[in-house]
Amino acid sequence: MIRFFNTLSGKLEPFHPITQGKVKLYTCGPTVYDHAHIGNFRAYMFEDLLKRFLVFMGYTVTHVMNITDVDDKTINGAHAEGVSLQDFTKKYIDSFYKDMDTLKITRADHYPKATEHIPEMARMIKGLLDKGYAYEKDGSIYFSIAKFPDYGRLSKINLDELKPGERIESDEYEKDSVNDFALWKHKKEGEPFWETEVGSGRPGWHIECSVMSSKYLGETFDIHCGGTDNIFPHHENEIAQSEAYFGKKFVNYWLHCRHLIVDGEKMSKSKGNYYTMRDLLKKNIDPSVLRFLLISTHYRKMLNFTFEALDQANASLQRIKDFLFELNNHPFKEGESKAVSKIIEKTQKNFTDGLSDDLNISVALRALFDMIREVNSLIAEEKIFSQDAENLQRFIHSLDSVLAVLPEEKEELLPADIMRKIEERENARKEKNYTRADAIRDELLEHGIVLEDTKDGVRWKRVKTKR
Ligand code: AMP
Ligand code: ZN
Repeated sequence: MIRFFNTLSGKLEPFHPITQGKVKLYTCGPTVYDHAHIGNFRAYMFEDLLKRFLVFMGYTVTHVMNITDVDDKTINGAHAEGVSLQDFTKKYIDSFYKDMDTLKITRADHYPKATEHIPEMARMIKGLLDKGYAYEKDGSIYFSIAKFPDYGRLSKINLDELKPGERIESDEYEKDSVNDFALWKHKKEGEPFWETEVGSGRPGWHIECSVMSSKYLGETFDIHCGGTDNIFPHHENEIAQSEAYFGKKFVNYWLHCRHLIVDGEKMSKSKGNYYTMRDLLKKNIDPSVLRFLLISTHYRKMLNFTFEALDQANASLQRIKDFLFELNNHPFKEGESKAVSKIIEKTQKNFTDGLSDDLNISVALRALFDMIREVNSLIAEEKIFSQDAENLQRFIHSLDSVLAVLPEEKEELLPADIMRKIEERENARKEKNYTRADAIRDELLEHGIVLEDTKDGVRWKRVKTKR
């Protein structure tokens, strides 16, 4: 049985999708006014782990992620650069897709953009006006939270602060601003605007998610995710809009990840601890190591990003790669043992039980590393056979359909000691110690590794020799 911690109830709950075997998932996407930072990727990575796990468990997942391409921040950014909103957001949308691919985050089924759903948003706002949940003031339209008694259920916000009729204009606001929020903003000089049935202007930020989730997933769907900063006001407002408009429950399970911080501090541009993917790639960080680091802390725990933590992630990942290399290259005797199928069965159970328990990744990874340790001892005792090695490789690749941290099967793996040698030779070359560099090259050749120096750096290939 799968259980998730539902922010709405504040409890762990058994997971039952509305339609058996199918999951409808909505995750709040990027506001495309800048390159996404690794904090955003923590959220997208947790959502990817959730989705990959559900698929691993046999569910068909329909996933929608919105792209906020019109709001206060994108409008200000386009203004500052003197370009159109579309030209401004396009480069960040492209960079977002590129980074998601680099991190092997599986694509959603739909990435609806706010600017492509303006008439639908106007229709919902009109409906909210007709039903008496919204009111107009100076050409802008606000949601009256006093009309929606369930307001605050998700965020447990203190409604004593409620000041009926007080309005908030900006898209994002502080924790204690329990005010009526903008559904539609009146046309302003110098801002993009649309002519709609509720007047000329532009939408507030929250309405797009209510409109686009219902369009692609239905009026009630299974899971909605985001970072904890989304709980209030954004998700609270989504619930108010959707439930007031459709008169039904909006979402059954709300899952939120805690934030990523850097060196124990909040990420901020001014502190210089703000990293985008391109910042890290410039530092030659391996994306699969970053992926391993981002998934390996439970999503409801704070994740502290440090370069030491990246080194540790690299070491852990290398242990899995070394193990696969051993399975691929050790001269195993023909045959199969009973012990290995038992180990695989146990690991599969522990891995699945771990992730079924509100995505407890620590338990799942422990299962994998326990298996590696156990099998390594059996290899040392010559108790593993060729068929076992094949079964183990296939099994690890099946677990990797959830983790997605290993190279594609066609890419070859090098064990850590060989990688270190290549690095050592690079350093020797940099120091112009060519005698040492050549000695290492010969040593590697004995292991069947041929090095080629290209203008993009050193490349290696394997030639047939005995190791
Ligand atoms: P935004 O582009 O700010 O709307 O954020 C996109 C997603 O990233 C949302 O789900 C946020 O909750 C999430 N997010 C933003 N900052 C962080 C952070 N430091 N750690 C984890 N998630 C974050
Ligand atoms: Zn949203």
